[in-house]
Amino acid sequence: MTAIDYQQIIEQLHHSLSAVEATGETADYIPELAQVDANQMGVYVLDQQGRCYQTGDWQQTFSIQSVVKVLTLCMAYSELGTALWQRVGMEPSGTPFNSLGHLEHEQGVPRNPFSNAGALVVCDVLMGLYDDPLAALLGLIRQTSGNPEIDVNPVVAESEKSEGHRNMALAHLMKSLGNINHDVDDLLDFYFNACSITLNCQDLAKTFAFLAHRGRCPQSDQHILDNSQSKRINAIMLTCGFYDEAGDFAFKVGLPGKSGVSGAIVALLPGHFVVTTWSPGLNAKGNSQRGLQFLEAFTTETGQSIF
Ligand code: GLU
Repeated sequence: MTAIDYQQIIEQLHHSLSAVEATGETADYIPELAQVDANQMGVYVLDQQGRCYQTGDWQQTFSIQSVVKVLTLCMAYSELGTALWQRVGMEPSGTPFNSLGHLEHEQGVPRNPFSNAGALVVCDVLMGLYDDPLAALLGLIRQTSGNPEIDVNPVVAESEKSEGHRNMALAHLMKSLGNINHDVDDLLDFYFNACSITLNCQDLAKTFAFLAHRGRCPQSDQHILDNSQSKRINAIMLTCGFYDEAGDFAFKVGLPGKSGVSGAIVALLPGHFVVTTWSPGLNAKGNSQRGLQFLEAFTTETGQSIF
């Protein structure tokens, strides 16, 4: 099969999107994120043969935010297997990322691992599996990205903590309903630090390459997940990766992916490529506005999607 030269496509799309003033808003509920210039945009494509294509602010670092929830899920799922689904479900919630809505009626079991509630449960699972779950998570990201410098930005973590009332409420509610085992403050510290891990578009694309390679990390040649587990994680990204805009993303882009409120998006076509975008202006659902526009145009222009 002839390889697609993504370079020209991504440059042209980046050029046309950057020509228009960004209308998205940065995440103002985390003070550190509110200060970032919403007009920035970086793109990185890593294909299955290891060729890379990049444009714009791809070297600019940002906090990983909710994109990390995929990695924490992979760690918990690879250890616990199907037992994990007793603690957290796998259905789209149709509610905002920080919603408390379903929890009370559903005995503190979050609908899926990519809502904040679900991610907190997964972090609680990891606290039971590792003495130092943050070190284990950083180890995974450094190994898969090949970048040993990746670390937490403590200023962002502190900023999240200072305004993290909804996350505190979620953790306490689930603790009261018996689905959190560890100390709530320790859990929130781990969660805020995990969300504050700082990297760039290249690091993120390399980190996620194992999900396009049936669970094998091409960087280190290690199996992070088996093929079946990798398929299931991609399925959850497709159905739950974009808060209550997951259906729209599947409809317009047609790839499994995950977004975060820093404006990061990772999406992938198993067997073909990983694409990452970062642009901090968010739409009303909390997804990067330019990132969504870019990815819709990217899969349209290349004709590549899972459908
Ligand atoms: N750290 C953010 C929070 O807990 C993550 C949210 C997101 O990226 O969706 O509010």
